[in-house]
Parts: sequence; structure tokens; C-alpha cells
Amino acid sequence: MSDPIDHRTPRRKPKPDLTRIAGHTLSPATHMMGYGYDPVLSEGALKPPIFLTSTFVFPSAEAGKRHFEGITGQRAGGAEGLVYSRFNGPNQEILEDRLGIWDGAEDALVFSSGMTAICVLMMAYCASGDVIVHSGPLYAASEGFVGKVLGKYGVRYVDFPAGATRAEIDAVLVKAKAMAAESGGKVAMIYLESPANPTNALVDVEAVCAARDAALDPAVTPIAIDNTFLGPLWQRPLDHGADVVVYSLTKYAGGHSDLVAGGVSGAKRWMDPVRSLRNTMGGICDPYTSWMLLRSLETLEIRMQRATENAIKVCDFLKDHPKVEGIGFLGLIKDARQQDIYQRHCTGPGSTFSLFIAGGEAEAFRFLDGLRIAKLAVSLGGTETLASHPAAMTHLSVPPERKAMLGITDNLVRISIGIEHADDLIADFAQALAQV
Ligand SMILES: *Cc1c(COP(=O)(O)O)cnc(C)c1O
Repeated sequence: MSDPIDHRTPRRKPKPDLTRIAGHTLSPATHMMGYGYDPVLSEGALKPPIFLTSTFVFPSAEAGKRHFEGITGQRAGGAEGLVYSRFNGPNQEILEDRLGIWDGAEDALVFSSGMTAICVLMMAYCASGDVIVHSGPLYAASEGFVGKVLGKYGVRYVDFPAGATRAEIDAVLVKAKAMAAESGGKVAMIYLESPANPTNALVDVEAVCAARDAALDPAVTPIAIDNTFLGPLWQRPLDHGADVVVYSLTKYAGGHSDLVAGGVSGAKRWMDPVRSLRNTMGGICDPYTSWMLLRSLETLEIRMQRATENAIKVCDFLKDHPKVEGIGFLGLIKDARQQDIYQRHCTGPGSTFSLFIAGGEAEAFRFLDGLRIAKLAVSLGGTETLASHPAAMTHLSVPPERKAMLGITDNLVRISIGIEHADDLIADFAQALAQV
């Protein structure tokens, strides 16, 4: 029976190879304006419309069956067509295609928050009796999920400090293997965060990868890394041996402090179990937020570049200021080992740093209350400059000993530099420091 109606769903089409033009490789920034979207399939709209629909009409019963084979995992790689908005949607799929490009990843998945991405990723890989190895410190909610939530389901963890050497990482993997053997499980994942918050300590991803390859089966134990602080512009961990990259897209990727979302990117074989659990649990990024992120990704490179240029100028002003005791900025690393890791893994210092005000909490508060351009708020990576006090805010509930170990002192201020004019920011910091 012939069918006069073109039943192609707006999104499904062969993906053209747009990565090269006449032998020239295009940069990710260029792809953000068009990759994965064909205007012809959406009435010629230059920009993708927002697809507010809970479900999608199948062209035929046979097609519906094939889609569900992909959804239920009977065939790897997910659905071949649009099915139901808990599983997929046009805005989400375009966003996933574009997000993956930044890291050179085969596949990507987007979520309703960074924490949803992290929780679903970990749950997809861990079973009772397994062990997670992680670098420390982690974003507090990630650390809580590993320790408190996964712990309830019989998953244990062992951690190592972010700056650990190859020998130290080797020792932790030996311990993790022994723990896993004891409980009849496996080392399910090595989970990293680099740079760590709020210390900015970098993890030697290359050393972790070499240690994993020597001690464990790389087909069983993936290395995942939270790349929120430097990615996707200044650090590409998949190039250094990581298997999965994790983002809070709320931060630099979203970049305007107006949405909450998360993402994971990596090879299809690592993404399939995560997609499958997301299909079951939900937690996919909604169409409107996905559309907002598509807009954000178009300016990601220029925003991150400008913010980093600003941060370099601001830190240059702050570093010798008499009211400043110290500064934790990747553009001003003093430690030789950290500098070596930076040189090998990063292409820029980013724009989030720690500032130690001469004095204690009172002096830090006077500085924060004196700022006029920079806003007093947690979070980072937006167009506007933000400042916060970790000891009294994000890390308030961390016990004093652990605070001391992490270097979270009462005079520590966390700063995320935005894309304002650098001279204006310097003037603001100068007048706020004068009030200390
Ligand atoms: C903000 C953040 C998260 C959590 O992301 P949400 O989008 O807030 O859920 C995870 N990791 C890092 C490093 C973050 O900064």
C-alpha cells in the first residue's frame, strides 16, 4: 500500500559527515551552528523548533517494533526513531550530537541535572558487592551519592587524593581489587573530578589510565571524569585515556545561570547501559532546556575564552595585592607536579579560582559584602562573575578535620569570573579589598 504522507520524523535522517571539508577538519565551535539538524525536516526553520510532545507517531507497526527493540536493549544503540519523550526527542538528540563533538565522543546523553547524570551513570555500572574508586575531593553531592546512597545497596568505595602519583594510585587499585574480591564483586568504575572543587587540584588522568590498564580489565572498569570546571574547551579527558566524560551543563555549557542540566559522553558501548537506565528512570533533559543549551553551545567557545582571559587579568591584579594571602588559580600553579599534570592535560586555566583573603571569616565576609559587580552566589560558569564562601556555604556541613584536609579555610573565597570587561572587574575587586 503506497502512502502519500511523508512519515519521516523530523529528526531521523542519515547524519552527513560534516567533520571535514575538502580534507580540512572543522572545529567543534563551527558545528554548534548546524550539526545534527536539517531545516528541511522542520518547515525550513533555521533553528530547531521546540518539540513539546509526549509521544511520536510511528510510520508503521513494523517501525514501532524496531524502535522498541532499541529501547528495550534487544538491539544495542537505542531507538532508531523517535518514540516517547522519556526516551528521546529531537531537541535532546541534536544536543547530544553536538555535545559529543566537543570531546570527540561517539555518543552522548543529556539529563535534567548534572547530579541526575552522575547518579544514573554510577547506578548503570554498579552492582552489590562492587567497589568504586574515586579521586577526592568530589563535588559534595557526588561524594554523598557514592558514600551514602550506593553504600545502602552494598557498593563500597575507596578514594585517593586528586594529586596522587602513579605509585599511590597503584596502591589504591590493589586495595580496591582486594575489597571487590572479598565481597564477590568487581571494581565497577574509577570516578575522577579534575580540577577538584574547591582546591583546584588536578588529577593525573594519564597515570590513572596506565594504572587501570596494568591492574584491571579496561573492558570491565571504565574511567569516568567530571569535566565541569574546564570542559569542554580547556580539557578533553577522552584524549588522555578516560572512557566517560561527565558534565553539569548548568555551569559553563549552559553558561547563563538560567538552567539546570547534565550530560555524559563516551563510546557507545559505555553509553548503552546508561541510556537503558535513563529510559527506565527518566531524568532526560526536557525539550525546552535542550533548546536553551543548543543556543548556549553556539557561544560556548567565545564565552569560555573571554572568561578565561578575564580571569588571567584579574588574578594578575590579585596575586600581589597586600590584602590577598594566596590564590588557587590554574594559571598560577606553584607545585611542580601539578604544573606537569596541567601541561599534559589542559589547554587553558579556566575562570574559576580560590582567593585567600588576608585574615579570617570576618575579612572574607567584608570583601564579599563589598563587591558591587560580582554577585554573591554559589555556582559558576555563567556570564556574570560570582563569589561565594565555601566554609560557610557549600561546605558548611563538612566536619572541621575534613575541611582542614581539603584546605577549606575561613578566609577562602571562591570566584567564578564572567564575561564582563576585565577592567571593571579589577576596579570592583580593588574597592572591595580596600574595605577589608
Ligand atoms: C554543579 C556541579 C555538579 C552538579 O551539577 P547540577 O547541574 O547542579 O546537578 C557536579 N559536579 C560539579 C563539578 C559541579 O560543579
